[in-house]
Amino acid sequence: MYFNENSVVFLDGAFVKPNTANVGLYNQTMHYGNGVFEGIRAYDTEDGVRIFKAKEHYDRLQYSAKVMGVKLPYTSEELEQITYKLLERNGLKDAYIRPLVYMGDNMTLLTNDDVHVVIMVWEWGKYLGDNMLKVMLSSYQRPNPKACHVEAKVVGHYTNSILATNEAKQKGFDEALLTDMNGFVAEGPGANFFIEKNGVLVTAPLGNILAGITRATVLELAEELEIKVEKRLFTPEEIYEADAAFFCGTAAEVVGIKQFNDHLFSMDWEDTNSSLIQRKYKRRVAHNEYQNVYL
Ligand code: PMP
Repeated sequence: MYFNENSVVFLDGAFVKPNTANVGLYNQTMHYGNGVFEGIRAYDTEDGVRIFKAKEHYDRLQYSAKVMGVKLPYTSEELEQITYKLLERNGLKDAYIRPLVYMGDNMTLLTNDDVHVVIMVWEWGKYLGDNMLKVMLSSYQRPNPKACHVEAKVVGHYTNSILATNEAKQKGFDEALLTDMNGFVAEGPGANFFIEKNGVLVTAPLGNILAGITRATVLELAEELEIKVEKRLFTPEEIYEADAAFFCGTAAEVVGIKQFNDHLFSMDWEDTNSSLIQRKYKRRVAHNEYQNVYL
């Protein structure tokens, strides 16, 4: 599903076949979750293949590595160039890109300098599909920012996301919504969350959530469309009063929610500002309206 006999990955400076890559069984990432990663998309635009917000994603990878004390041996610009080469080698235009920085053999709990970088690319449809979602309030909360760096994409953090996703699927929902450690609405297992009430969008402020790059894009689009956005704490109860809601993330893009717990949103999705944002997001990524700028 993720690769075939023609696929190549970038691994520590070389382009190799995924099934020939040799990863040590004693690596610290596999045992303790000390690794950092990104989820990026490339789109086949009118100007050719374009990685959407490559700089923002690779800068976040640098940040994630830094807070975990992991020495990443490439600049964001180098990683972007490598990724374009990798896409070309794999003949991919619309693709999901997964850079992973993982550690070498090390059974201690101390970060060392044995660092590996792999980048994988494959074709991947919208992570949560194209249909409106049924979402449940998770019994799990997002990790406390005093226990880890929630704004970093760290491998180990995703056990929380897996617990919430498994629970939601087992209960017949498509996706989970998690609160922060104080019970305020935070985000999904792999996407940020917005509600809409009387045309105004509301989303959690930064602090207890991952600073999503799609969330930032939604904020830009809302400004261009003159849609008001409130970044503030709100409780799950407020979702029942909302007209609409959606998740946004690189893998899921912008996906509407039809139901929260047993509550159906009454407004027609097509009539909401959320739907406008969804359509404009699609145009933004697919038509290369956005230029990555290195200063
Ligand atoms: N929250 C979490 C927990 C995530 O894993 C992701 C996916 N990276 C997001 C939000 C959305 O982030 P982005 O828009 O940068 O993909």
